[in-house]
Amino acid sequence: MAELSPVLKQATPVLAARGEGVHLYDEQDRRYLDFTAGIGVTSTGHCHPRVVEAAQRQVGTLIHGQYTTVMHRPLLRLTERLGEVLPDGLDRLFYVNSGSEAVEAAVRLARQATGRQNIIAFQGGFHGRTMGAGALTSSGTKVRSGIGPMMPGVAFAPFPETYRHGWSETEAVRFALGELDQLLVTVSSPRDTAAIIVEPVLGEGGYIPAPPEFLAGLRDRADRHGILLILDEVQTGVGRTGRFWGHEHAAIRPDILITAKGLASGFPLSAIAAGQELMSRAWPGSQGGTYGGNAVAAAAAVATLDVVRDENLVANAAEQGSRLREGLHKVAAEHPVIGDVRGLGLMLANEFTTPDGQPDTTTATRAHAAAAERGLLLLTCGPHGNVVRMIPPLIVTADQVDEAVGLWSQAV
Ligand code: PLP
Repeated sequence: MAELSPVLKQATPVLAARGEGVHLYDEQDRRYLDFTAGIGVTSTGHCHPRVVEAAQRQVGTLIHGQYTTVMHRPLLRLTERLGEVLPDGLDRLFYVNSGSEAVEAAVRLARQATGRQNIIAFQGGFHGRTMGAGALTSSGTKVRSGIGPMMPGVAFAPFPETYRHGWSETEAVRFALGELDQLLVTVSSPRDTAAIIVEPVLGEGGYIPAPPEFLAGLRDRADRHGILLILDEVQTGVGRTGRFWGHEHAAIRPDILITAKGLASGFPLSAIAAGQELMSRAWPGSQGGTYGGNAVAAAAAVATLDVVRDENLVANAAEQGSRLREGLHKVAAEHPVIGDVRGLGLMLANEFTTPDGQPDTTTATRAHAAAAERGLLLLTCGPHGNVVRMIPPLIVTADQVDEAVGLWSQAV
C-alpha cells in the first residue's frame, strides 16, 4: 500500500473534510477556526459561494484552453480586472500556476530585459522552492541545504530588522541600505545586476514589514543604477496587508510585480505584471507554461476580485487586522514569552523569546499545538520557527477575531 512521503510533514493532526468561510471541519465534523487560510490562499474564505459558482460554471464550459494556442474569456476578463487594481503602467500580464513559478518568470524577464545576470535578494527572504526561486530564498536552511549548486548570480543583502537587533526603524533602514550600497560596489556591480527582488513583508522569514523608507531606498538605488525592482507580492497581494498591494504602504512603484496565493481563493494561479516596454523585451515562447492561466483558475480569480471589491475586503483586512493586533498585544502583555507582535493588516506574528533574548522555539511550538487542540489553526515561521503567525481569510469578522484571541490566550 502506498503512503504519503514523510517529506510532507504535517503540522497538525487535522484531516480536513470541508471548509466554509473562516472554518475548516474534520471528518468528525469538529470545527476549526482557520487562521492559516491555506498559507494565505483562501482570501475570500473557504468555498465562497461566488467563487464556487464561477468555478462550477467554468468547469462545465471550458476547463483548459492553452493560452499560446487559443485564448479564452476568463483570462481576458481577469487581465481586465487586474488592470483596475495594478499600479499605473504595469499593464502587461502573463500567468503561471504558483508563487515559485512567478518568481522564476520575473527573474527570467529581468534578465531578458536588462541583459544582466545578477539578482539581489534579502536575508530572511522566501521566494519558493524551485531551483531558481530557491536560489533567492535565504529563509532557513530547509529549502537549499543538500541540493546545490543553486542558480548562480544571487547576492543577499540584509533586510531591516528592528526587534532582533534592538534598533529603531531608522537605524535598521540605514544599516540595510548601507550594506546594499556596499554590496553594489564589492559583490554585484550595477553593470551586472538585473534586479532587486523584495517582499513588502518578509513572509516565511518572520512577518517583518519592510519600512516604507527602505522600499523607497530600494526604488532609489534601482533608478540610479538601471536595476529593475521586483516586488514579490505572492503573499502580501490582494488585500492581505490592508491595502490592495503590500507595497502601497510605501507609495513606490515596482517595475515587475508578481502575485499568487490569495488571487484565486485556492485555485493554482499566479500573475506577472510589468510595463509594456519591459514586457516587449521577453521573446514569445520564453515564458509561460502548459497550465498557466487555466480557465477554471482564471474564472475563480475574477470571482475572487469581485468578492474582494464588493465585500470591501481590503478595508476589512485593515480593520480586523487592527483589532487582531490589539488583542495579540494584550495577550503578549500577559505572557512575556511573546517578545514581539508585528505585521501589517491580516498578516500578523507573535515572536517567542526566552528571558535572555534567544528564540524560544519550544514554547512557540507548544503554543501552536495547544491552539490547534482548542480549535484554532495557526502557522509558525521565522528562521528558528519561533514565530507563530496568524493569516485568516480576509472575510474574518470582529467576533471571529475575538474568539481567536481568546483561544490564543488560553494556548499560550
Ligand atoms: N514568494 C513568497 C513571498 C511566498 O510567501 C511564497 C510561498 O510561501 C512563494 C514565493 C512561493 O510560492 P509557492 O509555494 O506557490 O511556489
